[in-house]
Amino acid sequence: MPGGILLETRELTKDFGGLRAVDRVNLRVEVGAIHALIGPNGAGKSTLFNLIGGALRPSAGRIFYRGQDITDLPPYRRAHLGIGRAYQLIHVFPNLSVLENVRLAAQALGPDNFRFWVPAGRLHRYLDRAWAVLHEIGMAELADLPARILSHGHRRWLEIAMLLAQEPELMLLDEPAAGMALEQIPRLIRLIEEIHQRRGRTILLIEHKIDLVMRLAHRVTVLHHGRVLAEGTPEEIARDEEVQRAYLGE
Ligand code: ADP
Ligand code: MG
Repeated sequence: MPGGILLETRELTKDFGGLRAVDRVNLRVEVGAIHALIGPNGAGKSTLFNLIGGALRPSAGRIFYRGQDITDLPPYRRAHLGIGRAYQLIHVFPNLSVLENVRLAAQALGPDNFRFWVPAGRLHRYLDRAWAVLHEIGMAELADLPARILSHGHRRWLEIAMLLAQEPELMLLDEPAAGMALEQIPRLIRLIEEIHQRRGRTILLIEHKIDLVMRLAHRVTVLHHGRVLAEGTPEEIARDEEVQRAYLGE
């Protein structure tokens, strides 16, 4: 259903003591879009993600998912509705292999939760899904390694794999390129494009790397001091003088 709104925040606000980190944000993410959230450090981007995922409760405002008010739902209920939150709901078990971590993620939203021992029939289904994801993102050779010995970059890939294994409808990616080696970025861009095109997922992406945003995003929302400073296509945002000033700190 192109054109429909998957996620909407209305006047969403979060105060930390005297600091207003998110200030009456109205955000609308369309079904099937790659929507980027950008802004200088401290703009409130991660806080907004935490509000959407449910790790934080807002001070004011509401959040709607497919038109349903989810503001009062706990994080796991939001995950069941299809909101996949990288790095927050995902628990990497350092002593388990890459494959077992992805397998646990594949089953986590179902009745088996994070149970290590599950009946063989279901286990094989979860393992199949885990292998498929590992192949898709090019990590199959690392399947047997314990998660704890992964490089920082590979650990980010594992987190994305675990998110994908949960088959979310909306993926929230908070700076997926952070900590990745430069030569891994083109692969990350291709992966995000594939997730979007082949799997038909909606993606809300926080990213600092401007070329990645320009390349991938259909819509861009710029946050500054917790407020929406601008919203538009990447081309519109690139031309916006207020946005330039916000980044240059004038
Ligand atoms: P961004 O992700 O855009 O860099 P954040 O959402 O992390 O920004 O932070 C926005 C503001 O809220 C910053 O000033 C930050 O210091 C503050 N902040 C974030 N989380 C907390 C918290 N748990 N307690 C107090 N202040 C916080
Ligand atoms: Mg952040």
